[in-house]
Amino acid sequence: VKRAKETGRTEVYQAKAFTVARQEFAMETRLRRAVENGQLRHEYQPICDLGTGRVVAFEALARWRDEDGRDVPPSEFIPVAEESGLIVPLGRWAIEEATRTLAEWDRDANGDCGVQVAVNLSPIQLARDHVVGVVERALEASCLPGRRLKLELTESALVADPDRTAGTMRALKDLGATIAMDDFGTGYSNLAYLQRLPIDILKIDRSFVTGMLADRDKVAIVRAVLGLAQALGMRTVAEGVETPELAQTLAALGCAMGQGFLYSRPVPAEMAYRLIASPTA
Ligand code: C2E
Ligand code: MG
Ligand code: MG
Ligand code: MG
Repeated sequence: VKRAKETGRTEVYQAKAFTVARQEFAMETRLRRAVENGQLRHEYQPICDLGTGRVVAFEALARWRDEDGRDVPPSEFIPVAEESGLIVPLGRWAIEEATRTLAEWDRDANGDCGVQVAVNLSPIQLARDHVVGVVERALEASCLPGRRLKLELTESALVADPDRTAGTMRALKDLGATIAMDDFGTGYSNLAYLQRLPIDILKIDRSFVTGMLADRDKVAIVRAVLGLAQALGMRTVAEGVETPELAQTLAALGCAMGQGFLYSRPVPAEMAYRLIASPTA
């Protein structure tokens, strides 16, 4: 009897796993079509000086509306893109689209519009593509100097292939780009990399910022990250800045920049451009 029960359960699990696999494959097929047909979009979210509220950069965030009209969040389609290898063409598109958009803002401003644009790089993309060449060509095509571009990497890229990632980071720095460690504090990497790699900015993960006003432990972590960044000569961005109180507290603790719904949600390029001229908070 027991055996029969176990067998039945196994079948249920297998059926479930099969359904999930089939759904992911269907999503992969639709995502591939979207990438090939140029149907992905960017929204841009401002990164602001916590003291003045002025926009200093915009992070480009990929958006995908599925064929059935559903806006699929990046937390669903980026993993599918990574597992399927689609992250390579998707990641190229992101670099090209973001630099094209920044060049357009410059044209509208009749010169340097005064902000950087930040693009996320996936560890899989770093492992499988020649990101340096892609960045170099995108800068050339849009006639932008490298210093206008910021590239956000996660600690997982350093865990996956430390040597290759380090080499890529140095080459990107040589192009003039700024390097930011995204979601800092959530990875499993060895902190020793911080002194060896050309990192300009630490982005303090939202999980430490959200609710920190009522949580001493979170404040302690944020303080420690800010101290580390200062000692190593890096600048800091706090993610998830949703209230003026958070912005004030973070500024008082010495954090230079913030990103979050207080300033703006991610918005289409045309709306983002209007935020440059007028400080947001
Ligand atoms: P991320 O790079 O850490 O981007 C910040 C995420 O936090 C964005 O989510 C943004 O909408 C959200 N966010 C910003 N401010 C707030 C806030 O005040 N409160 C809350 N609750 N959330 C806030 P989004 O757009 O859903 O993107 C999720 C992740 O997907 C990104 O996290 C990034 O890791 C990844 N992603 C997005 N676009 C790309 C891309 O082109 N390439 C790669 N490799 N990853 C991407
Ligand atoms: Mg990011
Ligand atoms: Mg982040
Ligand atoms: Mg994050």
